[in-house]
Amino acid sequence: MTETVRKPRGRLFFANPGPTNIPDSILHAVAHPSIDYNSADFMAVYQNCVAGMKRLLKTRQDVIFYTGSGHAAWEASLVNLFSAGDLLLVPEIGIFSQGWGKMARDLGLRTRILESDWRHGADIAAVRAALAADTAHAIKAVCAVHNETSTGVMLHPADIRAALDDTGHPALLLVDTISSLGSIDFRFDEWGVDCAVGGSQKGLMLPTGLAFTGVSAKALAAHAGSTLPKSYLHWSNMLSRPHRSFIGTAPTSLFYGLRESLRLLLEEEGLEHVFARHARLAEAVRGCVQRWSRNDGPQLFCTNPARCSGSVTAVLMPPGHDAEAVRRTALDRYNVALGTGLGALAGRVFRIGHMGDLNEPMILGTLAVVEMALRRNGVPHGAGGVEAAMEALAGG
Ligand SMILES: *Cc1c(COP(=O)(O)O)cnc(C)c1O
Repeated sequence: MTETVRKPRGRLFFANPGPTNIPDSILHAVAHPSIDYNSADFMAVYQNCVAGMKRLLKTRQDVIFYTGSGHAAWEASLVNLFSAGDLLLVPEIGIFSQGWGKMARDLGLRTRILESDWRHGADIAAVRAALAADTAHAIKAVCAVHNETSTGVMLHPADIRAALDDTGHPALLLVDTISSLGSIDFRFDEWGVDCAVGGSQKGLMLPTGLAFTGVSAKALAAHAGSTLPKSYLHWSNMLSRPHRSFIGTAPTSLFYGLRESLRLLLEEEGLEHVFARHARLAEAVRGCVQRWSRNDGPQLFCTNPARCSGSVTAVLMPPGHDAEAVRRTALDRYNVALGTGLGALAGRVFRIGHMGDLNEPMILGTLAVVEMALRRNGVPHGAGGVEAAMEALAGG
């Protein structure tokens, strides 16, 4: 028997791990009339954004912007730094690290994939061993995903930096910060990162379409010797232009939005408070899922407490139960959008995004709806999940 589901009323609760909720003040800022992107008025806004992005990345080095989603910045990082046949070391911890490696191969690079248990995260000892064994320095870079959005398991870029330093290996350190920046602390200069890849629609709470890379002096030196074909994403072409970014028209309205996003993060709330809020909400979500996991219920995908993500939680369904059914119920009946299971995790995992513009009632509402969706789908689970989250958030 099929049940007719009425279209749910009220606001869509967006608990996707990207794109994320856009605060009203950013929506209003983005609604800006067209402006000459070379005008002094826009240049002032643009320079303000460049300075703010450097504060967010914690770098005094370069930031280059692209019109495109995160994938454009991935591609920029690869075509600007390498030459055909160059070897990259990729700790594979989920779908996004897998995707970055595949893109590298599509572009004519070689990859050495270091597999590990996705639920536990990167095997840093294996990274260190691979670097130590590479005495000829064939490995040109390590490509690390800071926050694996597909699994909710993180990697600490400082661990990779230490492996490079301890083995005296000169490889570049590339870090994907797409789902961490603006939610979880990231330190470009302190961690010796050479290229950090980011996008607009996750922690920055903007519409999709603006991507960027932080670029170190060492990366710029490597760029000078890189021969992979490139044009629209060519750093040298960009750096010689007034914005030091963009070939063609700059997406001006996104920069009005970015200026407001950076104001919210850096001035109004303050980065330390932003990170603490994300950590607090993430812990509440995990506390809830741990309760559900009793009675053979859904579990935290992340089994390594030191690496569980501050911005997304992947929930692993018990065998025989479909994650998509839970997700559909949450969306169709209660207007709550959850993240789907990606790639090999399709149907087995759903994801609760807790990055960006988010507070306690949004998280509690989302968790309550997931619990109702588990009930409606006959998924076994321990009682008291939402209460556990409330306890975590109310403190004491
Ligand atoms: C979302 C995401 C990407 C892809 O970014 P798009 O903006 O969708 O192209 C890459 N890496 C990570 C870690 C992500 O979360």
